[in-house]
Amino acid sequence: MKCFYHNDRDAFGVDAVTGKGLCLECLEEYNGFIIDKNSRISKQGARHWTNIYTKFNKLNRVVGILFGILFAVIGLWCLINAGYLFFTENKFASWDILYGCFCLASVPIFYYISSLGKEK
Ligand SMILES: [Zn+2]
Repeated sequence: MKCFYHNDRDAFGVDAVTGKGLCLECLEEYNGFIIDKNSRISKQGARHWTNIYTKFNKLNRVVGILFGILFAVIGLWCLINAGYLFFTENKFASWDILYGCFCLASVPIFYYISSLGKEK
């Protein structure tokens, strides 16, 4: 692909908003987006997407924390109940149930571990 403005030059990047091929002289980096240095529309588009990503990341974090708390409460509740049933020698309780509740209680921990790699 050649630069949209310079037919004789190879494109080094593609405008994230308009899809134009751009040479090194014509492209610009804006918050991780490659955009056309000369285009106001490209800059507006990149700003728009940056705002959306920022909002989505905040929302994602809030939802993640809420799910973490929810699973921690459910896991703890199951663990306490299973422990109670088990140690009072209830016939419904068994190591299987207790083990299952341990697994459930560990979900928020694994969710947290898996989210560590996604942070920049
Ligand atoms: Zn160019």
